[in-house]
Amino acid sequence: MPWRSDPTPYRVWVSEIMLQQTQVATVLPYYERWMKSFPSVAHLADADEAELMRHWEGLGYYRRVRSMHAAAKKIVQDHGGIFPLNYEDVLALPGVGRYTAGAVLSISTDAKLPVLEGNTQRVYSRWIGLRDSPTEKEANKLLWELAEKILPRRGSGQLNQAAMELGSLVCLPRNPDCDSCPVRGHCRTNELGLQDLIPGKIKRIQYEDRTEFALILMNRKQGVDRYLARPLPDGGRWAGLWDFPRCTEPATESVDAAAAWLSEQLDTVVAPGPQLKTIRHAVTKYRISLHIHQVSLAAGQRFVPKHHDSLWRWVTLDELENLPMSVTGRKIVKLLTL
Ligand code: SF4
Repeated sequence: MPWRSDPTPYRVWVSEIMLQQTQVATVLPYYERWMKSFPSVAHLADADEAELMRHWEGLGYYRRVRSMHAAAKKIVQDHGGIFPLNYEDVLALPGVGRYTAGAVLSISTDAKLPVLEGNTQRVYSRWIGLRDSPTEKEANKLLWELAEKILPRRGSGQLNQAAMELGSLVCLPRNPDCDSCPVRGHCRTNELGLQDLIPGKIKRIQYEDRTEFALILMNRKQGVDRYLARPLPDGGRWAGLWDFPRCTEPATESVDAAAAWLSEQLDTVVAPGPQLKTIRHAVTKYRISLHIHQVSLAAGQRFVPKHHDSLWRWVTLDELENLPMSVTGRKIVKLLTL
């Protein structure tokens, strides 16, 4: 993996943030592209947010990239652009928790700091035969203590990486390959044959079904098609990414209600139109059916975005190509391009 070949704190930090909730294979091309565009903390701090979002597009959990941007600016301001090597300073960076701080410093500088994430939770639980759920408070505390106790005087980074890799390649959630496991001689779970019961059950997310509407409002001017879109406002889902009007109000079940919502947003009258497609996708705990509809301004109505108090813009599909969008927003662009 590219971040292993030259594990500077910056490179490891970027990889760790990208790998949160995301598979290694998905991260690899994003990581390479990122490092070419933003090879240092200073490059990242100076970057335009829309450009960063465009690089992140498709990785999801966009709060991560905004936190990284804020962290890079903090590093420039408080540490002269040099990634801090003090644990408390790293922990104080936006978007960095105990695991990330430990991983970055142990892997890049061999600091004697523990890590505990999904893989090590499972490996350590099995190693000591802990039957409780590893995310329960007491069990979690015990696992952090264990992760710290087993660190050698030198080589903590290697041990942390080895334990994580053991979890991802050998000590799998189902059917762990105990016969080829290098710690099988010390593993309580293997001794007791309790691989199916340990680690204890982790509470799964309860998914909720939701219906949302994407409304495609087009305006043809001098033979050029323009669509209504905006960067999503701060504080909400996908803040900073561009999107077509999307009605996410939980009680909205029909395109008529969604068109009424847009009418209110734009202070004009929007008429519902035909359905183009439905996309099903998941965001955090929601399973969403996104109905995409064409809509139009009612006869005699017009909409001119007021630049000073609104984010709405009429944009061409070519312009959207260079702007950051969510995965479903990009799918809608493709649909309109066909
Ligand atoms: S012996 Fe089996 S259960 Fe124990 S750590 Fe190794 S792979 Fe996991």
